[in-house]
Amino acid sequence: MAESEIARKVREAGVVGAGGAGFPTHAKLSAQVDTYLVNCSECEPLLRVDRQVARRHADRVIAGLRACMQAVGATVGIVGIKAKYHEAIAALSAAAAAGTPAIAVREMEDFYPAGDEHVLTYELTGRVIPQGGLPLAVGVINNNVQTLINVSFALEGVPVTHKHVTVTGAVKSPLTARFPIGTSFREAVQLAGGPTIERFAVLDGGPMMGRFCNDLDVPITKTTNGILLLPPTNPVVQKHDVPIARMLANTGSTCHQCSACTDYCPRYLLGHELRPHLVMRTSTFSALGPMARTVDELNCCECGICDLYACPMDLTPRRVILTHKRELQRQKVRPTAAGQVGVREFYAERRIPLPRLVTRLALAPYDAEAPLREIDWHPRRVTIPRTMHLGAPATPVVAVGDRVKPGDLLGEIPQGALGARVHASIGGRVATIEPAFVIEAEP
Ligand code: SF4
Ligand code: SF4
Repeated sequence: MAESEIARKVREAGVVGAGGAGFPTHAKLSAQVDTYLVNCSECEPLLRVDRQVARRHADRVIAGLRACMQAVGATVGIVGIKAKYHEAIAALSAAAAAGTPAIAVREMEDFYPAGDEHVLTYELTGRVIPQGGLPLAVGVINNNVQTLINVSFALEGVPVTHKHVTVTGAVKSPLTARFPIGTSFREAVQLAGGPTIERFAVLDGGPMMGRFCNDLDVPITKTTNGILLLPPTNPVVQKHDVPIARMLANTGSTCHQCSACTDYCPRYLLGHELRPHLVMRTSTFSALGPMARTVDELNCCECGICDLYACPMDLTPRRVILTHKRELQRQKVRPTAAGQVGVREFYAERRIPLPRLVTRLALAPYDAEAPLREIDWHPRRVTIPRTMHLGAPATPVVAVGDRVKPGDLLGEIPQGALGARVHASIGGRVATIEPAFVIEAEP
């Protein structure tokens, strides 16, 4: 199908999914669906970014949504947002009331993982995405609020050069701000007043699904939502630090097959064939070797509930499953629909209330507001990865030594590949293009 005018502008601006893996948004807009969803659930504890940008830029969220609905032929548009985000709901409702087509702002309960695309789709539409499938399989596309704001700018020819991020945890003044892409975590943490403790773990994202990077020199990318500092004594950090071999040894001696990890697993509750307690049982049978992996493990969304909430014995089913899942993906094993049943009994009762999760993970001291601030930050140097998205790295269209202005194209999508364009976030001279674009501001 020929690319629509809207999809072209979105592709040229380098828009990718801002809330997750960075799927190129123009590729989503080549589909035809009846329903378009906006994810403003922000279910990761401590993060504050989506609700604040949704309130501040409600008009752009709705404008981006309407454009995307037009591109894919959707007649239903729904914003899914936690009922407790009162100000954002008021702003989005006012924006939705002005203009057509009609948009519903649907209030959700305060649970984790409300933002998982399978959970969100079920909560807002009642449709269950088949295991191993995408929302497209049930006529749905969903995007994060920041993605839709970027779409609305793309329609005006403005590329993605900045990212709103919450900087929180063990920092003096938690904040949410808009940073040029490529700004280092170190600078963002300094703008939040600096660390409050000497030794800390650094996460790119929230405590449940954030990636441990433990390096303050990594850059903010198009998919960075949170920078989180936690003390080494926090349970999230402690579980991460246990070597996987030790964890497997512990599993053999302490997993008592209570099945709490399965009972609370959101994908199991949606009827998918995924039972972490059985994975833990077979994982201790080392004689089985690779046979212990099952294709069902591909259904894991890596939400961390089994690890960080459910298991009473401090075990980490997610990490065991991930080890298997990566190997299955390397072997290009595909998930199957076999074994899926309907939504299971107790789905609603077993959703995890966010306050309970915060308490369980000893996060209450860090559960602070992180107000949206206009900081107008101008870094002297940015490091912009060629891959901030799913797909092929962008092909450089600049050379070392070139001068660029903010918004100039740095990298193009390789011919025929899935990918996203990359643009300069500051003006200056290109210092390197491999493995990332480094731009140094000139005096
Ligand atoms: S919750 Fe923990 S102890 Fe219970 S079955 Fe799962 S891994 Fe084993
Ligand atoms: S991380 Fe655990 S709870 Fe979450 S989907 Fe995977 S197996 Fe289920």
